[in-house]
Amino acid sequence: MKQWFATAFGAGYDALATLKPERRTGKRVLINEILSLQIMVTAIIGTLAIAGLYWGGQWVLQDNYSRWAMQWTQELNELGAPLFLPNDDEAILRLESFIDKYPEIDRVSYYKDDGSVMFSIQNGADAEGQDVDLAGDTLSELTDLVGTEAPYVVDTRFLNARAFEILAPVWTEAIAGDGLFSFDLTEGPSGTSENLIGFVGLELDFSLFHNRLLTNIKIAISILLILLIVSSVIARRYLAHALTAISDLQAPIAELARGNLAVQFKPAEHREISEIVEALESTASALGERDARLLRLANHDGLTGLFNRRRLVEELKKEVDNVSVNEMSSALLFIDLDQFKYVNDTCGHPAGDRLIRKVADQLKRTVHQNGIVARFGGDEFAVLVSNVDKNKARQVAEKLLEDMRRLAHIEDGHVFHVHCSIGIAMLQSDKFDHDDLIAQADIACREAKENGRNRLSFYSMSEGEAEKIVADVGWVSKLRDAIDNDDFSLRFQPIVHIATGRITHHEVLLRLKADDNKTISPDAFLPAAVRFGLMGEIDSWLVENAILVLAEHRQDRPDLRFSINLSANAFETDDLAGFIRTHLDKNNVPAEAVIFEITESLAVRHLSYVEKQISALRKMGCELALDDFGTGYSSFSYLQRLPMDYIKIDGCFIRDLVNNPVDQKMVRLIGEIGQEAGMKTIAEYVQGGPTLALLAELGIDLAQGYFIGRPTSVPTTKSMPIPINLRQLQASKNLSSNDGIS
Ligand code: GH3
Ligand code: MG
Repeated sequence: MKQWFATAFGAGYDALATLKPERRTGKRVLINEILSLQIMVTAIIGTLAIAGLYWGGQWVLQDNYSRWAMQWTQELNELGAPLFLPNDDEAILRLESFIDKYPEIDRVSYYKDDGSVMFSIQNGADAEGQDVDLAGDTLSELTDLVGTEAPYVVDTRFLNARAFEILAPVWTEAIAGDGLFSFDLTEGPSGTSENLIGFVGLELDFSLFHNRLLTNIKIAISILLILLIVSSVIARRYLAHALTAISDLQAPIAELARGNLAVQFKPAEHREISEIVEALESTASALGERDARLLRLANHDGLTGLFNRRRLVEELKKEVDNVSVNEMSSALLFIDLDQFKYVNDTCGHPAGDRLIRKVADQLKRTVHQNGIVARFGGDEFAVLVSNVDKNKARQVAEKLLEDMRRLAHIEDGHVFHVHCSIGIAMLQSDKFDHDDLIAQADIACREAKENGRNRLSFYSMSEGEAEKIVADVGWVSKLRDAIDNDDFSLRFQPIVHIATGRITHHEVLLRLKADDNKTISPDAFLPAAVRFGLMGEIDSWLVENAILVLAEHRQDRPDLRFSINLSANAFETDDLAGFIRTHLDKNNVPAEAVIFEITESLAVRHLSYVEKQISALRKMGCELALDDFGTGYSSFSYLQRLPMDYIKIDGCFIRDLVNNPVDQKMVRLIGEIGQEAGMKTIAEYVQGGPTLALLAELGIDLAQGYFIGRPTSVPTTKSMPIPINLRQLQASKNLSSNDGIS
């Protein structure tokens, strides 16, 4: 028994312990919640059942009490001898023996017909109470019951749940009018006569039954509690067993979350769990496939399947360490196809792509197992050859040149002989890191181009070049930090319509935050950014942030428009228009509010795919401006192929416009061509009123420069006095030989 108690208590404690919140993680435990619910439901049902039992028991008992009371009252009434025969001792004895049989009867009282106590008999020494005459109300109530259908029970006063009192009138009944008897009877309506002779009262105490009921209910509660504890313990065990399948999933899921996609799940017995396991397994395999795809995308060039620039840089870093540890030398070959643009321009971009793929295959075949081949972008490739000296590196490069010379590509009946120029940088110590080496190989390649193309060149460092590389590399780390930490800022320079002085839009200018709260202009850092492949990220930053600022200011100035500069890298992105659309939509900015500027040299160099990107942007609703026009190629024929909205005349024609008749001719010509081609012309670098007046005269539409407005951190609303007094300016032009900077 003792042992059972200990087990039950222990189990009960166990069950209660499961209800405590899980301390280790502070999270709720499923099993505890299910158990709590079970205990709660059982407790509610149990409590309701016990309460029902109690009230039902009470009701049955009380119903029985009333029946017994009525029966006893009837019997006492029939034994009502004391009322008929007040001096009959026998009658009293009969009465006493009657009540002796029923311990529940505490007292029997007989009252005269006026309500006064005639006598009473107590049952046992414990019985309490006193004889009290019947009060007026009770008396009349009892009297009214004489001859009725409920002749005995006249009043049932429950003193409490267990004890109550019952009173009944006692009367005689006789059939009237037989003439034999002459009682003083009152004739009733039914032909009978009733004569009230007194009352009988009974005090009853059913505590015994009641106590038994309570005891039974206590037993029931105890049984219920024990059942509750036992069932909780059993349920906990059962639930714990049933939920093991779920707990078993915890470890593999955690593994999966840590990225181990090869994790093994135990085969499950339950249908639901096995469905979860199947879902997890297919998720893991889908993730695995996606990872492999992403890894491939992250490391490989989409067009050729060769390693991409990112992967080559990684390999190069490893090789730099390798070289310094093993005291050997390796070579980085930078390969750029010669006159590749010609293929694109004559046969189109897809033909160029086919040729690039062919070149990639050839490079792989030539290098074979001896090195790593990567595509850097455009028509640039790189080959990393490990553990070679300068001679061996030269042999490899010569073999590459030779094999490429033999490569012919036929497209639309044209036969293209592919040549390339190779720049070689030797990895000999850890003095130069990967960025330095790429820059060196690039410089050497440019030298090979300058020397006549279709040749190789080793990088040999002059002092000035070494300094340049160090400076460039310095910029690279600064720019990488700036991209990571958002250390760029934007300035906005107004562009006005010369005739009205109205601001048409603002050019967005990029600045790099310097340590001393100053800003650095892009001239300082953009060349390094271009050389080290950071322009893509800088372009994205610029577009994203310019659109953000535009959206913010357009709330108050809905006609505000920005002109944003894009580099060649932006145009190399496959879905430039999609990228821009996403940002415009995200910020609720209409495409019409944005103009993109692209430099003339960039547009011409990458004509075939710039053309495609430009028409996608224009289709979207954006406008395009050809920047720095007049420098570089200055070929007006390109204007026919590039559907531009603005031509931006390079500042070198504007700076000394007032004094230089050649510049004036050039500007007038550009103005006229713009007009013919339906493009607006913009003059930048306008630093004085006379220049502005002259530009108006030369037919230029828009102007930008310090005279109009300097770049500000918030797009200015202040335009020139409108309308600008051009005549006055023209007059002053003749007086001034130099604008000076305003
Ligand atoms: P150079 O001898 O000086 O190298 O002249 P190039 O004509 O080869 O010109 P450059 O190397 O400066 O330019 C490479 C061109 O490659 C520019 C662009 O039109 C083209 N290009 C860049 N990426 C792709 C591409 O993915 N596919 C195609 N078809 N052409 C590309
Ligand atoms: Mg090339």
